[in-house]
Amino acid sequence: MTKKKVCSLRCPTCRKIVLANDAEYPFCSERCRAIDLGKWASGGYVISTPLNDPETDDSNYPSQRSKKPQ
Ligand SMILES: [Zn+2]
Repeated sequence: MTKKKVCSLRCPTCRKIVLANDAEYPFCSERCRAIDLGKWASGGYVISTPLNDPETDDSNYPSQRSKKPQ
């Protein structure tokens, strides 16, 4: 085994092998980087993070419920 240890990754956009010392790592090119960023901006990747979930609020902050003015 004379395999040289070079960290490499596949470009998230076009799946081309990219070496860690590449200027555009982890992308193979500036173009692929722009495409990936565009995917995020256009909602290609959807991250569901409910910020105002009433059920979660209740279980996380039970003290707020007892602070009701009477
Ligand atoms: Zn690429």
